[in-house]
Amino acid sequence: MEKQGFSPIAGSAIFRGIAGQKKIIMAANVRVTHVAKGILRAAKDTDSAVFMELARSESDLKGGYTGMTPRVFSEKMSAAAQATGCDVWALHADHISIKKGDAAEVQGTKDLIDAQITAGYTSFAIDASHLFNFEGKNVREELADNIRVTTELANHIRSRMNGKEFGLEVEVGEIGRKDTGGLILTKPEEAVEFIRALNENNVFPHVIAIANGSSHGHTYDANGNVVEQLSIDIPQTQAIAKALRDNKLGVGIAQHGITGTPRDLINLHFPKGDIIKGNVGTFWQDIVFENFKVFEPELYRNIREWTLEKYRPLNPGKKDHQVFDGNCKMAIKEFYKEIYAVDEATEKAIEAMAYAESLVFFRAFSSHGSAGLVRKILH
Ligand SMILES: [Zn+2]
Repeated sequence: MEKQGFSPIAGSAIFRGIAGQKKIIMAANVRVTHVAKGILRAAKDTDSAVFMELARSESDLKGGYTGMTPRVFSEKMSAAAQATGCDVWALHADHISIKKGDAAEVQGTKDLIDAQITAGYTSFAIDASHLFNFEGKNVREELADNIRVTTELANHIRSRMNGKEFGLEVEVGEIGRKDTGGLILTKPEEAVEFIRALNENNVFPHVIAIANGSSHGHTYDANGNVVEQLSIDIPQTQAIAKALRDNKLGVGIAQHGITGTPRDLINLHFPKGDIIKGNVGTFWQDIVFENFKVFEPELYRNIREWTLEKYRPLNPGKKDHQVFDGNCKMAIKEFYKEIYAVDEATEKAIEAMAYAESLVFFRAFSSHGSAGLVRKILH
C-alpha cells in the first residue's frame, strides 16, 4: 500500500529503513515553529527522513518553556508537513526525563506520555539516565533504577500504542555530566549491559543516547565566547557502536548536542551509521533570534531585556551575551503571542534560512535518499 498523506510515521520504520546505511537522521527540536516549514521542505527536496521533536522541558502538559503542549506541537508539525508535502517524518518525544524515579514522578510521566500518544506522537525517548547508583557494585547495580523505570515506561507506551509501531530511544550516562576530571563518558560495557537488561525485560530500543563528550546548547571558552568544535569522542563512540553490534543488540546511537559542531567536521569525521540519529536544537532557535534582531527589533529588545533582567542576578560574573544565550529559551513562552504574530516577511526569512541550513545538515549527515529507503519498507 502506498503511504497516504502527511501524518507522522513510526520512528521505528525510519530506523528499519536506514539499517546498515551510513546515514544520520536529523532530529530537529523546533522550539519556535517558524523554522519547521524550512526544515521539512529541505527534507522533501533531498529525500531525507527527519524527526521533529521537543523534550519534556520544552513541551509538557503545561506547555513547557516553548509554550506548546504536545497537542499544539503535533498540530503545528502536521500542518507544516502538509504545507510542504513532506511524508517521511516522525513526531518524537525527546528527553522524557525522570530525575527521581519515585511513584509520583513516574505517574506524572505516564500522564505526559498519554497526552503525547493522544496527540499522535510516533517515537519516544525515555531518559532515566539521572538515576544512577554510585554505590552499585557492578554495572547492573549502578543502572538498576534506570533499567526499572525505562522498562516501566516502555511497557506503558507499548500498551497505550495498542499494537501500533513506535520508535524507542533510551539513555545511559547523563549527557554533559562532569566530575573533577571533566565530562564523564559512557563505556561500551555500560551501554551493552543496559540494552541487554532491557531486552531481558522484553524492551527493545532502536537507539541509545550516550554520554560521549557533547553538551546541550552552546559551549563557551574562559572568556565567554562560543566555541565551535568537534567535542565528541569519536573512538569511544565507535567502540560503543561496535560493542552493541558485536552483541547483536540492534541498537544505533543518538547523538545529542550537535549545535556548535562545524558541519564540515560532521561530514568528514562523524561515524555515520554508528550514529543514526542527530539532535539539533539550539541551532534552530539561534536562527529565529538572529532574524528577530533585524526584522523585529522591538520584540527582540523586549525579549533581551526580559531575559537579562530575570537571569542576570542568577548568573553572577557571566557576560550579558552568555546570560542571554543560555536563557533566551525561557522567553519563548513569555512572548508566545508576539512571537507567533510576527510579520510574514519575518517568517519568510526564518523559513528560508532554516531551509538552507537544513540542506547543509542533510548533506553533512548523508541523509539524502533515506526517505526513499523508508518508503520501501512502508509499502
Ligand atoms: Zn538531548
